[in-house]
Amino acid sequence: MHLKCIFLDFFLHEHQKRDIIHTITRRKTMLINQTSNSNSARIIGQNLARQSADMLQKYTSHHRILYVSDPSSYEAFTNFFPLIEGRFHLYDASPTASRDDADELAHLIDDAELVIGIGSGTINDLCKYAAFQRGIPYIIIATAPSMNGYTSANASLLHDGHKQSFACHAPILCIADLDLLAHAPARLRAAGVGDTLCRSVIMTDIALAHHLCGAPTYADYFAMTHKNELQLVHSLETERGVGIESTKTLMTMLLDAGDAMHCAHSSAPASQGEHMMAHLLETLAPDVTEGVYHGELISITTLAYAALQEQCIQQTLEGFTPVAFPKNMVIAPCDPDLHASWHRAYEEKRAMLLPEAQRPALPVMPARLPYDALTSALRYAGCPLTWEDIGGEAHDVQHALNYARFTRARWTYLDLMPYIVV
Ligand SMILES: [Zn+2]
Repeated sequence: MHLKCIFLDFFLHEHQKRDIIHTITRRKTMLINQTSNSNSARIIGQNLARQSADMLQKYTSHHRILYVSDPSSYEAFTNFFPLIEGRFHLYDASPTASRDDADELAHLIDDAELVIGIGSGTINDLCKYAAFQRGIPYIIIATAPSMNGYTSANASLLHDGHKQSFACHAPILCIADLDLLAHAPARLRAAGVGDTLCRSVIMTDIALAHHLCGAPTYADYFAMTHKNELQLVHSLETERGVGIESTKTLMTMLLDAGDAMHCAHSSAPASQGEHMMAHLLETLAPDVTEGVYHGELISITTLAYAALQEQCIQQTLEGFTPVAFPKNMVIAPCDPDLHASWHRAYEEKRAMLLPEAQRPALPVMPARLPYDALTSALRYAGCPLTWEDIGGEAHDVQHALNYARFTRARWTYLDLMPYIVV
């Protein structure tokens, strides 16, 4: 049995994934790395591009495949992969990750039995959504270690004026060639680091949420990812940036994060207060965030948020009472529907709170990467460190710190803002 099995069952079973991997591993020099609870098969390694292309060509030659890419990803890809024959949908310019574009791509799929995306965030989201709409599997050949959505089961697409998350299926296979990934544009590699090193502030929030409402702690995932993070921080320093070693660790962590979100049926393991701040800043200051990669923005909010969490180290939760949703969010103007959805989310969040007597003990901040260490790792990676670095004004960050807690049904250290005694 070989890669043909991908056509037999959209929802692959573990043995089918192993068959795919077995098929691929018969070709030497590949490093296979599949976590036990992963949802997408993955191949990470050096010098595997040509072999993967040959393998894909051979095993899919009797099937109808649509390859999808954008000009810059395609150019980078062809430097490492031989030209793959097949139907190609190559965008003229960089596409937008929007629902409209994804719907259009779903029409273009026509009679294809498999979609193979070649690209990073936007291509991945478009292909994932379009293939899901047509009920066929897809494979992603990653061209940049830029974000953690490769293996998640949702697509982040612009719809009705703002980014929304749409449920999809994860790819059946992600191919991550380290030579290709290590040559991705520096800003994209830095963005991947930003979207990864938020682990520390996320884990701290999750411990608080566990205390306040019994939310899951994802302990196994965080134990694994914290170990990889130590390696990543070390290699960023020794390579003075994102080189081959750090790319390998970074890509593993990005795929692990996607798997963790898939398993959790939630973005919670990879998105807490720092992401809530980032999304609010996108609403507050679209002129500043336009053209800024997601992970670059997360680098900025992670640092601002780490500083807030450090201020809370000595705080107790004595006197903690959640405040009401503000009548006039000073951050208006914004879409009334969005405002109403924030209000609903906040009420849902208040309803989740456990009575004080039933709350588990509040743990000390777990496996924290201190602010200074975080700053230096993000600096080595080439990430922007402050909102001012990308042309923003300081009061926007203060608004995000004050108001992001009202935008999502997640208890985080943002909720402790009114109680911080400096
Ligand atoms: Zn993210």
